[in-house]
Amino acid sequence: VSGPLGLGRGGGQEFDRLRAIFARLGAGAIGLGDDCALIPVGATTLAVSIDCSLEGVHFRTDWLTFEEIGWRAAAAALSDLAADGAEPLGVLVSLGMPGSGERGAEIMAGVSAATQSVGAKVLGGDLVRSEKYLVDVCVLGTAERPVRRVGARDGDGVWVTGRLGGAGLALGGFRAGARPGGALGARYARPEPRIAAGRWLAAHGATAMLDISDGLAADAGHLAAASGVGLEIALERLPCWAGVAPLAAAGSGEEFELLVTLPASFKEAPDFELTRIGTCFRGGGVRLLEGNTPVALPAGYDHFAP
Ligand SMILES: [Mg+2]
Repeated sequence: VSGPLGLGRGGGQEFDRLRAIFARLGAGAIGLGDDCALIPVGATTLAVSIDCSLEGVHFRTDWLTFEEIGWRAAAAALSDLAADGAEPLGVLVSLGMPGSGERGAEIMAGVSAATQSVGAKVLGGDLVRSEKYLVDVCVLGTAERPVRRVGARDGDGVWVTGRLGGAGLALGGFRAGARPGGALGARYARPEPRIAAGRWLAAHGATAMLDISDGLAADAGHLAAASGVGLEIALERLPCWAGVAPLAAAGSGEEFELLVTLPASFKEAPDFELTRIGTCFRGGGVRLLEGNTPVALPAGYDHFAP
């Protein structure tokens, strides 16, 4: 059984902070712990999420253009709509900028491009002067059949969209002073939120889903804790970016691909890359296997790790 609000017991300092906040909010909050807040409105469900990108934590101005900074912040936020199978309506953006704020139009051009790429619009926002660049993006969408982190069952298949490890490989390149270009650079600078895949999976029986922001292994743990099942994942089945080893791919964060569980009987073929990587079992936690040998889990990203 998962802990309160689906966070389980693990997850390090960041999750300790979240649990303390949830405990303090008590009955003043509802439905916390998923990728989106899901609010029934009439015959549909409104999906809402907010995602903050901060200079020095999420991006560096010497690695990315300001348009790329805006694209990336919006894509990261939109990815949470994808994770719930929602269709985007639009975004609201609070922008913090140092100096005279002359980069705002470039940042918002990037936000708008990412938003338009999934058929949505910029709906509003706010500007503030700040010491560092800050792009705080609130996304709004609707979900006919919202898919949460809760819902995976014993025997369900575990699947992942796309190929993993490119974002981590590109990040390593930037850290080493290179400027990765082409498809690899784009994995970091212009990630694509998997909106169409999320909607397709929701319509084809997905039982639980989230987007890979902390790394496959860590996010698999979040899904396992929320659903109250264990996830067994075969490393040799992982679809990896060229030149990335499976264990590195399993630890690579900000991939913005979708990790999804589907009934054992699922066998439809979508028009996007979708790979079965494992199975849900009765129990808890994540088992990474190399052949038949368990492998230690790579750590996920923790904002408050000491
Ligand atoms: Mg998410």
